[in-house]
Order: sequence, then structure tokens, then C-alpha cells
Amino acid sequence: MAKVVVLGAGISGHTAVSYLSKYLKEEHEVVMVSPNSNFQWVPSNIWVGVGLMTPNQVKFKLEPVYKKMGVNYKQALAVAIHPEGDSENEKGFVKIKYVTEDKKDVEEKVTYDYLINATGPKLNFEATEGLGPKKFTQSVCTYNHAAHAWEDLQKSFKKMENGEKQTFLVGTGHPMATCQGAAFEYILNIAFEINKRKLNHLADLWWITNEYELGDFGMGGAYIKRNGYITPTKIFAESILKEYGIRWIKQAGVSKVEKGLVYYETLDGDLATKEFDFAMLIPGFAGAGMKAFGKDGRNISNEVFAGNGMMKVDADYSSKPYEEWSAKDWPLIYQSVNYKNMYAAGIAFAPPHAMSKPMQSPNGTKIFPTPPRTGMPSGVIGKIVAQNIIYQIKTGKKDHPHEASMAKMGAACIVSAGYGIRKGQAAVMTVNPIVQDWEKYPKWGRNINDTVGVVGTAGHWMKLFMHYMFIYKAKAKPFWWLIPE
Ligand SMILES: Cc1cc2nc3c(=O)[nH]c(=O)nc-3n(C[C@H](O)[C@H](O)[C@H](O)COP(=O)(O)OP(=O)(O)OC[C@H]3O[C@@H](n4cnc5c(N)ncnc54)[C@H](O)[C@@H]3O)c2cc1C
Repeated sequence: MAKVVVLGAGISGHTAVSYLSKYLKEEHEVVMVSPNSNFQWVPSNIWVGVGLMTPNQVKFKLEPVYKKMGVNYKQALAVAIHPEGDSENEKGFVKIKYVTEDKKDVEEKVTYDYLINATGPKLNFEATEGLGPKKFTQSVCTYNHAAHAWEDLQKSFKKMENGEKQTFLVGTGHPMATCQGAAFEYILNIAFEINKRKLNHLADLWWITNEYELGDFGMGGAYIKRNGYITPTKIFAESILKEYGIRWIKQAGVSKVEKGLVYYETLDGDLATKEFDFAMLIPGFAGAGMKAFGKDGRNISNEVFAGNGMMKVDADYSSKPYEEWSAKDWPLIYQSVNYKNMYAAGIAFAPPHAMSKPMQSPNGTKIFPTPPRTGMPSGVIGKIVAQNIIYQIKTGKKDHPHEASMAKMGAACIVSAGYGIRKGQAAVMTVNPIVQDWEKYPKWGRNINDTVGVVGTAGHWMKLFMHYMFIYKAKAKPFWWLIPE
């Protein structure tokens, strides 16, 4: 009997465990270790952040779902990986921590034959002084953060209803933050809500970003087909912001936040500030903060994880100059470099390099987005990692028939504003592949026939439909596996 342990019940880990249980549960053991008792459909947190959904609509309890799936669920935090075992354990194990019902702290060793690290990002608010919901800015990265953001946003709406002007600042809260798409969607939703309340004349809306040009989205921008002609995403993003009455500050690395005031440095080296009444700024992302130890207790974290705490996998991490980066640098099977029964799926794997051109201010501050880590590739990677493990367990072979390079797969991004069947509107962008491949597509970096942008109501319906469809799938309801990642 083989034992597969998955760390992290997010989009990637939950997808992996769903397939593992479907194909292995009769004869093998599948374990999920995750600290939050709920699954959350993160993309819909945007709607929680503008009061159009409640946290209960974007989350559900994991325990009954894992019971139905036959997964051994441990509500716990993984703190260390011992891939070589120790004096008591021949096999690799994960050290996990949890608190019992009678409030006792417990540490446990969970051994494995295969391990999938799908612990997602650590929301690194600490990397920017004053950033985050415990300090001076809001976040929509979790349902609790989003609910808190909505409480704060309503205060600004109230003030505007009483005739007071309000400044809204949304974007990236660290010089190297990613996830611009989520922040972009949030500011459009705020603009939509302000417009709905007929308060536009009292609102000053600002987008602040570490992107060199708008529409970079951490993927070096894209050329997209739109209405039959080709547009750079810079124009696409700028026209959308303009249409919603949003002004922007670009090439900005936010360094510090105080109450109502953001400090930032620009790529020119200028130090500037921006006042705000309401701010939602995405933090930098880091790995989950686990450590790794060898059989003799030696700290081998540097061998297992990259400097940002994300796990090193089958990618090319040699620090080549930007001009030499290639699509082939990106991982195919997400297998750990030194430990062949260990994988990293979703945001937990360390990307080999940025996709946007690295930029630095004269003061030496790096200001550019790190690669985007969206849900679709996270789900697909979780699935193929599970499929390879299932294949190896069932055949006894050690090869990997399933691959999912971000330089070969496409992704769709739906930036929706508004809510309901008739009122919403969305900008839909598909890119294929996610990572530019200038060798294969020398003109546009991507397949221009599949790299498309559209604005309209249909995309908004799709986003709404996806909310219900993916929650249905995550709950492992009948025929869930027919719904693509
Ligand atoms: C507001 C917002 C909107 C977004 N909208 C979109 C969108 O429209 N489309 C899209 O494609 N993508 C979107 N994304 C990105 C998408 O949500 C992520 O790509 C996706 O959630 C990543 O999946 P993951 O499984 O790698 O990480 P996560 O979903 O973050 O899951 C990680 C899991 O690991 C758990 N964990 C953390 N540490 C540990 C530990 N030490 N031990 C065990 N478990 C641990 C966490 O509790 C969590 O359950 C959005 C992101 C945000 C923040």
C-alpha cells in the first residue's frame, strides 16, 4: 500500500487530492494536511470585497467532502519536511502542528511514499512596513480579508453619501508583487459600485502598480487579438481604466504605508507619496515558510527551497541574463530537484525567472512584477502531478507521462465588474502560452489566434458560471471530474 500526502487544500492541492482519492482510495492511503477547515474559491473573494457575496458563498467545510472522498484529513500546519526520514523513520515524513479540542499543542510526524507540496503563497505583508489588514491597507486575498475590506469600503461610501470626497488606491503593495489581475478586477468593481450609487463626482480612483507599462500583469504583457486587430495589453488595460474613470501611477514600488499615506519609489528613483482614504494593495508572495532537514538533522532548506521559500523543481534556475531566458526553462512535471518522490504544485513551486523584464531604480530597488500564479495553471499542475503519482503507483514505473509546462499551456483571465445577470461586464483575456515562447512564435511571443481580449456581458456570465461550477467540482459532486480545471 502506498501513502500519498498532500499539503494545502487550495485550488492546486484540492484538485490533486480529488484525483488521487478517485483512483487510489480503494488500495492506498491519501492524506490531506491543511490548516483552514474550509475550502475557499479565492477568485470570488473580489465579490466579497464589494459586498456582493458573503464569505459563506465562497467557502465550504472540507471535512465532510474528504470523508466522502475517503481522504484522511488532518487540519494542521506543515512546518518541516524530512525527505530522508530520521533515526526512527526509514521513509520521508512531514512534521505537522495542530491544536487539540482541549487546547493542547501537538506535533506529529506524517510519513509518506509521495509528497505534494501545494501550500500556495505566504501573504508577505511584513515585507512592506504598514501594509495589510492588521495595519493600514485592505486585502482581498482571503475571504476574511475581503469581508474586512468591504466593511472599510462601506465607511467610504457612507462618507461620500454625506458629501465628502474619497480617494481610493488599489494595486500592488510591494515593488515585486504579482497578482495584478485580482487588484485590477477589484478596482473595476469599486468603480462599478460607486457608479451604481451615483457618487462618481466624489470619488478619486487610483491604480498603483509596479508594472513598467499597464497590462504587463507579470507576464511581460501580451499582444492580443481584439475585434480583428492586434493590440498590446497596455492599450487594453489603459482603455479599460480610462473608461471607468481611474487614473494610474505605474513603475511604482510601494515601500511603506502609514495611516492614509503610501510611500513609493519610481523606476526613475523618485521618492513620492500618495494619500488615500481606502487602499487595497496586494502584498508580495513568499513560500509557506516550511524548513527541510536531512537524515542527520542537517538543515537542507537551501537545497529544497529557493530563496523566496518556494520549492525548487525541474526548472532551469541558473541565473542567466534576461536575453537568454527561454520557454524551456519552465518545469514540466514539478518534481523536486533532489527528492524524486516529492513534488510542488500551484504557487508552491519556484518559477525559474520573472516573465516581465527585470528593472531597477538608480537606488538599486528592483521594481517589476514576479510571474503571475493564476488558478487555472495551479489546478492543471495539481491534476498532472496527481496523475503521474497514480501512474507510478499503479505501474511501478518511474517515468512521468503527464506534463504541464506554463510555457505550453494557455490561461484565461476574466476581470469582471458588477454582479447579476444583466448588470455585469467583464474583460476576458486568453493567452497561449502563459510564458512567452519567442522561438516558436517569433512575431508575437504567443499564438496570436488564441491570445484574445474581449469586453462584454458574456464574459461576466462566464465568471459567475465558473463560481458555481468550480464550487460544485470542489465539493466532489457527481461527475465532478468532467469539469475542466
Ligand atoms: C482575490 C484574488 C482573485 C483571484 N482571481 C483569480 C481569477 O479570477 N482567475 C484565476 O485564474 N486566478 C485568480 N487568482 C489566483 C488564484 O486564486 C491562485 O492562483 C490559486 O489560489 C493558487 O492555488 P494554490 O493551490 O497554489 O494556492 P492556494 O489556493 O493559496 O492554496 C494554498 C493552501 O495551502 C494551505 N497552506 C498554507 N500553508 C500551509 C502549510 N504550512 N501546511 C499546510 N497547508 C498550508 C492554505 O491554507 C491553502 O489552503 C486570484 C487570487 C486572488 C488573491
